[in-house]
Amino acid sequence: MVIVFATRNKNKVEEIKHLIPSSVKVLSLHDVHCMEDIPETASTIEGNASIKSFYVYEKYHHNCFADDTGLEIDALEGRPGVLSARYAGEENNAEKNTAKVLSELHGVENRKARFKTIISLVIDGNELQFEGIVNGTILTKKRGTHGFGYDPIFIPDGSNLTYAEMDLTEKNRISHRALAVKKLVQYLNKISPKR
Ligand code: IMP
Repeated sequence: MVIVFATRNKNKVEEIKHLIPSSVKVLSLHDVHCMEDIPETASTIEGNASIKSFYVYEKYHHNCFADDTGLEIDALEGRPGVLSARYAGEENNAEKNTAKVLSELHGVENRKARFKTIISLVIDGNELQFEGIVNGTILTKKRGTHGFGYDPIFIPDGSNLTYAEMDLTEKNRISHRALAVKKLVQYLNKISPKR
């Protein structure tokens, strides 16, 4: 079976190739000559994951999966959520995004938040979604230098370290994305067992 992973992030493609059964060939957007930006116009993380996987399925006639992730903060009624990449402006600037969150949470006691990844898988026009959630707490200032995005201000429940203080292997082992990928891989193993 051939499946396109609707991402431009080469690291994500390489990472997943090692996890997915060898009977499934994973192609990138580049491999199918999809060079255009896929519109992410939905108002939810679930919706944006869906848009991306159906876009590739309908336009390039390949089965496809796509992921979308957001940080949902209780005291901000779930924001930045679907807006996580461009919370402080269109340029997806992690410094500005985290600064905006910290400023909105200034003096706020309830620091509960969660990272949510949704993977939408479209096979023969039918969609399944796989969810990975990690609950945690937003700090009052940044800690750690690894990772990306909101990693320096997020401590997952059960840890004393922010995502940005963990080494990448440790973060990738426990992260929201890892949980969603694990469910996807389990499913693909079921429908296309290793040869
Ligand atoms: P994407 O859907 O994977 O592109 O993620 C959207 C945005 O959410 C990113 O631009 C980051 O700001 C944020 N984000 C996603 N995953 C993570 C993570 O693992 N750590 C920190 N921020 C993340």
